Amino acid sequence: MTSPDIDAGRLTLALSDLRLPAIKAIWPEFAARADKEGWPAARFLAALAEHEMAERARRRIQRHLDEARLLPGKTLDSFDFSAVPMISKAQVMALAAGDSWLEKGANLLMFGPPGGGKSHLASALGLALVENGWRVLFTRTTDLVQKLQSARRDLQLEAAIAKLDKYHLLILDDLAYVSKDQAETSVIFELIGARYERRSLLITANQPFGAWNSVFPDQAMTLAAVDRLVHHATIFEMNVESYRRREAIERKRGPGRPPTRATIKTSS
Ligand code: ADP
Ligand code: MG
Repeated sequence: MTSPDIDAGRLTLALSDLRLPAIKAIWPEFAARADKEGWPAARFLAALAEHEMAERARRRIQRHLDEARLLPGKTLDSFDFSAVPMISKAQVMALAAGDSWLEKGANLLMFGPPGGGKSHLASALGLALVENGWRVLFTRTTDLVQKLQSARRDLQLEAAIAKLDKYHLLILDDLAYVSKDQAETSVIFELIGARYERRSLLITANQPFGAWNSVFPDQAMTLAAVDRLVHHATIFEMNVESYRRREAIERKRGPGRPPTRATIKTSS
């Protein structure tokens, strides 16, 4: 039972005006408990404040998740690290905390053939970072290039790039698929320059740097872009066979046979 000597309707309105929706929703329940259990007034007030804070944090993370456009269902839990033995799970977990690299605008680059788990790992890392309070945007590189190009046509390129500053991490998936024509690729060049040492990029690409001459319009631009990207960067070389293909092969082998990755490689 709530205390009879206050106007509950008026309190509810006040809590709305004060923008305390969590307290507004929970106070009757908390008050009833407090009365029943004889909580001191300060404890009751502290419990309400804590509740509002926790709800705010939850809503903020939910907003950041919605804006991040991550790939659905790709998590670090569902990522099979044994498929990419060259990558240390401990290192990925450390990156998922964010502090060590996002604070200084360092980058993460993932290279490897299609199907090796680059997009999965990038999105899963983005999810962990959002859950840890960072802001992330996952985008296919071609989509972002199109947006930035159209911004440039409206003489808004700088503003559009500045708007992306709110994201501590910008994930550019499939850099190599950007078309080779000069106009398109230079927006990526501008973006790399603008974020350099301030805001982080995570780039996935099927081709290593050697082939990036086909990504940027000329060699000087390629060199300058690569130079900035790698200056403070962690590089994951994910040179593994397609995960799906391998799974299919292992299924075909049937139970009782050792999986391909358990066999000892004698070559080299
Ligand atoms: P890439 O971006 O390198 O081409 P993807 O991340 O799109 O590869 O992976 C292709 C599919 O295989 C996705 O469904 C992904 O979830 C899955 N996959 C790839 N690697 C792994 C892995 N190590 N553990 C679990 N699933 C994986
Ligand atoms: Mg991919």
